[in-house]
Amino acid sequence: MTDEAVTRPNIPIAPDTPSHAVTGQALRKALGRFVSGVTVITTGSGDDVHGMTANAFTSVSLDPPLVLVSIATRAKMDARIAENGRYGVSILHREQEPVSLHFAGGKPCPDKVRFVERGGVPLLDGALVHLACSVYDSHAAGDHTLHVGQVDELWSQHGDPLVFFTGTFRALEIVREEQPWGF
Ligand code: FAD
Repeated sequence: MTDEAVTRPNIPIAPDTPSHAVTGQALRKALGRFVSGVTVITTGSGDDVHGMTANAFTSVSLDPPLVLVSIATRAKMDARIAENGRYGVSILHREQEPVSLHFAGGKPCPDKVRFVERGGVPLLDGALVHLACSVYDSHAAGDHTLHVGQVDELWSQHGDPLVFFTGTFRALEIVREEQPWGF
């Protein structure tokens, strides 16, 4: 390969006028095109359990086992996690859309809300995955806090996840039956 090929790759130049100004609303809409699952984050114990729907959840590290959830500083959950130092993550099953709306402050469905305690944290009954986490680190990031959690214990079962895309709840469709990547 010549130096020219390395320094002058044949990449077409795209129009560089942004399609949108970077406003909160434009960012929310654009990032809503990144498909996610839906979790309910829980903390507390006994009669003092607090839950909140979150999709800004991701894996971080396998060794040590770390996950991350990004919580708005205005959400009650932010201070509750800081106080308790522990939180639970329930990755929702596709049938749990009503529960996800409930814990987002939307249409309430108290009859469908059932907590179970596992690994010393409250979790939502019927979820696909339960993670019991201890706060490993918390980082202020703009109007959110990134709560990195060390996964102390986990429970996982088969089933279809609830999916969130462009502000609406979806279910997964498998396009091609292939060998799963790394599973
Ligand atoms: P509240 O608004 O007071 O509580 C949330 C709801 O949960 C209330 O209706 C409350 O009644 C109910 N609830 C709480 N505890 C219990 C209990 N023990 N028993 C029964 N009901 C209870 N926000 C983020 O900061 N980060 C995200 O990643 C995020 N992702 C989201 C993804 C989706 C799909 C949706 C719909 C919303 C998301 N939100 C996210 C917004 C967030 O869920 C709401 O702003 C939520 O209302 C904030 O909760 P809160 O801690 O302030 O408590």
